[in-house]
Amino acid sequence: MRIILIGIPGAGKSTQGNLLSKQLKLPYLSTGHIFRLLSKEKSVQGRYIKEMLHSGNLIPDVKTLPIVEEYLSRPAYSRGYILDGFPRTVHQAKEFKQKIDKVVYITLEDKDALWRIAFRTEERDDQAAATIIHRIQTFHTSTDPVIEHFRNADLLEEIEDVYKRQADKT
Ligand code: ADP
Repeated sequence: MRIILIGIPGAGKSTQGNLLSKQLKLPYLSTGHIFRLLSKEKSVQGRYIKEMLHSGNLIPDVKTLPIVEEYLSRPAYSRGYILDGFPRTVHQAKEFKQKIDKVVYITLEDKDALWRIAFRTEERDDQAAATIIHRIQTFHTSTDPVIEHFRNADLLEEIEDVYKRQADKT
């Protein structure tokens, strides 16, 4: 089974992804994580990706597509996966060759995401306030249309983020 996770930065995609991964016994993979690994390489590509991550912009589709396709062709992902962070543009969604079974969209308001990221302890190169705001804006311009694309394809499952659901219960 191939599952895609979508949500603004801070929505809890990796938390949900890891839970789903355990429950469904499928590997969890995040394209942000792949790019953060590549950004540590001392090569032209490594330095380029580092700059892109720092700016909060998306890595261009021509680079992203082959990198993601290569990862997903590895034996570890042959039975399926929980994929977080891809596709982020309609072009990526249309060019992606593998058949997706479900797209889980974790909803969270921008202001809640900002608070949450601001108080994260995780060390990341792209967590400066201006970059976070830019990443959220980039999500709305580039990835909101991807959500519509999957809604139209009848693959979309919308859920409220995990902490909000817990808060609502208490
Ligand atoms: P978040 O979900 O918090 O935005 P990610 O870890 O998914 O963070 O992504 C971090 C960064 O990695 C993004 O801001 C972007 O620069 C890059 N990135 C991740 N996935 C993609 C993608 N599918 N296309 C282009 N860039 C990507």
